Amino acid sequence: MKSVLLIGLGRFGKHTAMKLNELHHEVMAVDIDEERVNDVLPYVTNAQIGDSTNEEFLESLGISNFDLCIVAIGDDFQSSLETTSLLKELGAKVVVSRAARDVHAKFLLRNGADDVVYPERQLAKWTAIRYSSDYIFDYIELDDDNAIFEILPPKNWINKTVGRLDIRKKYNINVMGIRRGGKLDLTVTPDTLITGDETILVLGKNHDIQKCLHI
Ligand code: ATP
Repeated sequence: MKSVLLIGLGRFGKHTAMKLNELHHEVMAVDIDEERVNDVLPYVTNAQIGDSTNEEFLESLGISNFDLCIVAIGDDFQSSLETTSLLKELGAKVVVSRAARDVHAKFLLRNGADDVVYPERQLAKWTAIRYSSDYIFDYIELDDDNAIFEILPPKNWINKTVGRLDIRKKYNINVMGIRRGGKLDLTVTPDTLITGDETILVLGKNHDIQKCLHI
């Protein structure tokens, strides 16, 4: 269980709070707007109404005690930047800040953010890749070159075993698991038969996977 300070309770912040709660983490939620704070009360351990650009207010929260600080302010870049840099100055262990533009991401990283999340860009990329192919069900980018894809098997894979297809050698991608009837099986062997009623989790370079799916 981690103790998390979550600042900014718009839609993004609220969804983050709900998921952290589901994962049983301890969340202190902060927003300048009382209504927004009230709205997340069912999902968080503690909450405070306050301005996160106010150093005294932030200091009173005991920043160094949190395992993780998330700055989920999106549009007000000035507040987001000031909050990020104050958190670091006050001894925050890890600060993750939300960026709304490329230039924001750069400045946040230079001014105290250990990492940035960029929901619009990340989700836009996912949407384009997921829905531009009939074969791709899900996609997790690992870095600029590599990703994990959940795919429908190409037609020429059906009724063949993983060993016979020689997927790793032929396509330069690794089969990590197979999902049938909603259940994920991670024990793939050369004898595993592709029947056509599954989705397959593959790990590899984007262009190798796209080549194999003829995208
Ligand atoms: P979302 O896109 O997540 O729905 P939003 O567009 O409603 O958010 P943003 O400007 O991104 O609003 O801000 C997110 C939240 O951060 C808001 O609830 C806002 O009140 C809060 N916020 C902004 N500045 C501060 C601040 N200095 N201190 C505390 N909370 C702040």
